[in-house]
Amino acid sequence: MDSSTTIIFTVGTILVTGLVIWAINRSSGQNKILRDKIFNSAFPNEWEAILEKNFKLYRKLPDELRLRLNSYVNVFMAEKSFEACGGLEELTEEMCVTIAGQACLLLLNGRCGFYDALRTVLIYPDMYSGKSSINDDGTVGGGGTRLGESWGSGTVILSWVHTLRGPAIASDGKNVVLHEFAHQLDQKDGSADGAPLLGFTDEHRDWAKSFEAAYERHGERYRRGKKLVIDAYGATNPAEFFAVSTETFFEKPKKLKERYPKVYGHLKSFYSMDPLSW
Ligand SMILES: [Zn+2]
Repeated sequence: MDSSTTIIFTVGTILVTGLVIWAINRSSGQNKILRDKIFNSAFPNEWEAILEKNFKLYRKLPDELRLRLNSYVNVFMAEKSFEACGGLEELTEEMCVTIAGQACLLLLNGRCGFYDALRTVLIYPDMYSGKSSINDDGTVGGGGTRLGESWGSGTVILSWVHTLRGPAIASDGKNVVLHEFAHQLDQKDGSADGAPLLGFTDEHRDWAKSFEAAYERHGERYRRGKKLVIDAYGATNPAEFFAVSTETFFEKPKKLKERYPKVYGHLKSFYSMDPLSW
């Protein structure tokens, strides 16, 4: 290649790279404009009626949070797809809105995006059998009956019966949608470790210390057969402890604050909400 060919090739490469960057920026700019438009669009009355009926906490939300939740639901409904699975005969708008409403409650702090990695929500009519897989050591893992799952690769799976049951009994600390979407937040930084999106900050260090101590105490109480505020499943590992703590935070805030005040304080700060004041 002579020097003039090299110059033409270099200029050409710079131009093509510039064009690609411009096209990507333009496309993401347009996506943002479209998302803002959807975020700020009117919330359908039918969707509000569905959330009023199926999501008890929605009725208690202060007006400002309720309006923000509606905006997030607008985006969730526009950007995510839903699929019927396991013999679910009909996928209804009620199902999608009921899931979106609960899921978006966890986004109102404004710093968790819009579940950007999530593409699809699979809905089963009831509990379903999880897929088993072969572990590295040759043993078989997974399987068993499930109410829901969250995959960092872009899928959440839910049982419709339990999606309805969770928010209908709003004081038992059980809500499968909040649970699985808390996992989505935790999985966002690539590791499901019970510490979502905090970076290596003082907040993260303090979070890790408080959650670790509470997780140990919870496990100890569980092993000794003592009364639990957080569901026993939270003793499985730190990721489950965070997901179950999130359910407890929204559904049994007073008890969580009494038993694990630091965990309550961190969740209040992370979600930018205080369910005790509703
Ligand atoms: Zn879980």
